Amino acid sequence: MKIKEITAFPIRIPHGHDVEEGKERPPVIDFGDYFVDEQAFTSIYSKHHETTVIKIETDTGVVGWGEAQSPVSPRTTQVIVEDLVRPLILGRDPFDIEAIWTRNYGAMRERGHPTGFYVDAIAGTDIALWDIVGKVAGKPVHKLAGGRYRDKVLLYAGIGGTDPEKVADMAEEHVGYGYKALKLHLLLDAEGVAEIARAVRKRIGPSIMLMCDVHMRQSVTSAIKLGRDLEKLEFTWLESPLVPDDIPGAVALCEALDMAVAIGEWSRTRYEMREAFERRAYDVVMHDIARTGITEGHRIGTIADTYNIPVAPHVGGGGILSVAATVEYSASCSNFMIMEHSHHANDFKNAITSINYGPTNGYFEVTDKPGLGIEIDQSLVEKYLVS
Ligand SMILES: [Mg+2]
Repeated sequence: MKIKEITAFPIRIPHGHDVEEGKERPPVIDFGDYFVDEQAFTSIYSKHHETTVIKIETDTGVVGWGEAQSPVSPRTTQVIVEDLVRPLILGRDPFDIEAIWTRNYGAMRERGHPTGFYVDAIAGTDIALWDIVGKVAGKPVHKLAGGRYRDKVLLYAGIGGTDPEKVADMAEEHVGYGYKALKLHLLLDAEGVAEIARAVRKRIGPSIMLMCDVHMRQSVTSAIKLGRDLEKLEFTWLESPLVPDDIPGAVALCEALDMAVAIGEWSRTRYEMREAFERRAYDVVMHDIARTGITEGHRIGTIADTYNIPVAPHVGGGGILSVAATVEYSASCSNFMIMEHSHHANDFKNAITSINYGPTNGYFEVTDKPGLGIEIDQSLVEKYLVS
């Protein structure tokens, strides 16, 4: 069996909100389809759901689907797939998954592309290859990538906003959907974050697990103060408090706080994460499978296990293939803790599937469906192509 073709589809699905998923935000600078925060040098966001869907076909007629997470500029990933990944993988046996990852990764390493869009393209390719292998074997991906550790994948739902009572309303709404864990995305200063955290804890009571993502807006000192406030409210983790490269700061935070510090959504390889593991800059590691792929995701998870660190896979703006790949990964990850999910975004992410892929009562059921367990409709994918 040989790889006959690989195609990348950059897609943009409108979701009817001015900004990301109903979240009220601090003031933004508007660039049409994209926007940035006016007061902080943080991420550029799309007003739409954007990602890159990858299709691989074999000479025997098997089709595998993958996704390279591209919250902005999916056409960048498309060009990398077409110009670099395609010539490297055509004609290869799709079962040579790890060898293909290594060939792809090595091809641009010396030139300074060890992460970012280039590795996203490799990750999406890797996921599509796992889908093929599963379909050929008639087995779900998790059965081939370590086996089934659990029958249900526990989720937390992400919510956000700037008004304490409105965020508390949203928390109550999501508890009503059956979630036993929630994460607050709070783009405010430490005092504003703590105020919302208090309102949410007061409203939903002590039994729901709560986490807080502050999207790299804190200094070490403000994060320590905030962490101490969140500890009093029994929050489980403080996420992404500092800029990604501040490893010494993350180490200091982990040492200062009793609560867990969760970091790692921006990291794509074990090489990139080595120093953070060695210096214990994480209490929880949150790599993103649509950035690492399933192959490298498992290797990162195994290294985390070596350091006795639990895994909470990031999904964020990833599409429905990212969700499905993360469910398969989570089912087969020994040190899995909890997976990220966006309840309302799941509906528009499903726009490229012929089935309704989603969780029940705060869990994804782990199924016996072959491959990723999801069917993609190419005519729907083409409907959302970014031209
Ligand atoms: Mg995050």
